[in-house]
Amino acid sequence: MTVQDRLIRIEKSLSLSGWISPGDVRFLLDAVADLRENLSPSQLLLPSASSTQSPGTFDIPAAFWSGSLESGNPDSKPWRVNQSVERIYQALDSGEFRLYFQPKVNMRLGKVVGLEALIRWEHPEFGLIPPLSFLPQIEESSLIIDIGEWVLDNALSQINRWQKMGQMIPVSINLSVNHLTHRAFLIRLKDALSRYPDLPPNLIDIEIVESVAIGDLKAMSQLMVECQEMGVTFSIDDFGTGYSSLRYLKRLPSNTLKIDQSFVLGLLHDSGDMELIKAVIALAQVFNRSVIAEGVESPEAGVVLMWLGCDLAQGFCISKALPGDAVFDWIKRYQPDPSWALWSGVKFDLSDVPLLLAQYDHSIWVTRIVDRIQHSRSGLFEDDMGDQDVCRFGRWYVEDGMNKYGNFDGFSELGKLHHEMHVIADEAILSLSTGQWDEAMVYGERLVALKDVLFSRLANILGTIRLAHA
Ligand code: C2E
Ligand code: MG
Ligand code: MG
Repeated sequence: MTVQDRLIRIEKSLSLSGWISPGDVRFLLDAVADLRENLSPSQLLLPSASSTQSPGTFDIPAAFWSGSLESGNPDSKPWRVNQSVERIYQALDSGEFRLYFQPKVNMRLGKVVGLEALIRWEHPEFGLIPPLSFLPQIEESSLIIDIGEWVLDNALSQINRWQKMGQMIPVSINLSVNHLTHRAFLIRLKDALSRYPDLPPNLIDIEIVESVAIGDLKAMSQLMVECQEMGVTFSIDDFGTGYSSLRYLKRLPSNTLKIDQSFVLGLLHDSGDMELIKAVIALAQVFNRSVIAEGVESPEAGVVLMWLGCDLAQGFCISKALPGDAVFDWIKRYQPDPSWALWSGVKFDLSDVPLLLAQYDHSIWVTRIVDRIQHSRSGLFEDDMGDQDVCRFGRWYVEDGMNKYGNFDGFSELGKLHHEMHVIADEAILSLSTGQWDEAMVYGERLVALKDVLFSRLANILGTIRLAHA
């Protein structure tokens, strides 16, 4: 790209947004540096820039951008600008970005309900680079708008291709707040949609990425209403984190809340995460929004989410993000997890959730011990030899389990099986610690066999619960 091209681009961005961003400044400096060949951008900006810095990066006090440098703020910390901002412009120009698509499903119905478009950078040297390795750097630059428009155009053309193959599938795109609040956003969106007159706008959902706070909530809300009148829907991404999710919930007419994956990843281990998820689901119900969980990595997490009232899910246990041309076949072949189908017609009772968690914990515990046996790892594993009444299954059995299901057929047998499993696990671990690998192997096999019996008894109890709630 010539220096003249760069200057025209900066001028275009200035006339659109009326402000010049850090990325643009960097871009401008690069352009000027090209003109004055012997001067690097850092020399132009900071004559005393340290010579210890790696080539290609230089530090600029954060206060420089915020304007507080003039007021002499002593706390100003350096903000690292990477030279690849320029490289990211080039990547866009030379078509190095790719759009991948991660399926979203309705676990209860066993159906694919949409896709989330996720950008990747196919770098000729470094391979596929994930978005969080380059987007934060350009968040404050007009380049985030150029990339957002690229994402929108590519998503539309991909939806159009699927439509022609007979597959109507909604796609969510992630747009940054700086893009959405840009004054030309609505015009550009209408313009992009008008290029696909046969494509219903309700196939586009915009996930608002809260990387910066939304300043003018009223203006944002009006914009969302105008888009919704055209059919476009909105989700609040990473709900529960970010700037002011609750304020956004009240003031912004989003259609969907996306429960942040950090809570979902902790769901089966951390009771705090479960309580937060319950609260988000309850909020969604009160505010009449739909709710989806991202970061569903195991079928068990999916079942618990269904029980808690969230049927929509996205995550690695369903599929990772796929290249566009792999999606059609994936959808045709998709089979929901059998444990989800089992619960599809059932109205859940939250008081049954602990049973599922106890079962999950127990299966993880067995897998861990078997893994140690298979890898002949010795030593005394105190965690694994834990008291049978202290492990989560043991606690569940004598407390919740006994109270709720004590008179179910096979319940007392559960206790005996569980006790036997702990005895065998202790033996296995002792064998390991004394180097008797073959003996440990035999114990490991017995442990797995007992787990299967225990789980089949639990399945009977779950079957009785299902019948009661159906
Ligand atoms: P996000 O919008 O919350 O997207 C979900 C991220 O979680 C994706 O990472 C996805 O690959 C990952 N993920 C999905 N399922 C699982 C799971 O089961 N476990 C775990 N551990 N992770 C899972 P990715 O693609 O690296 O994207 C990261 C973030 O980058 C996105 O978070 C979004 O904020 C941003 N992003 C991605 N594409 C775009 C884009 O086109 N424009 C903008 N502005 N931001 C984007
Ligand atoms: Mg997202
Ligand atoms: Mg997220």
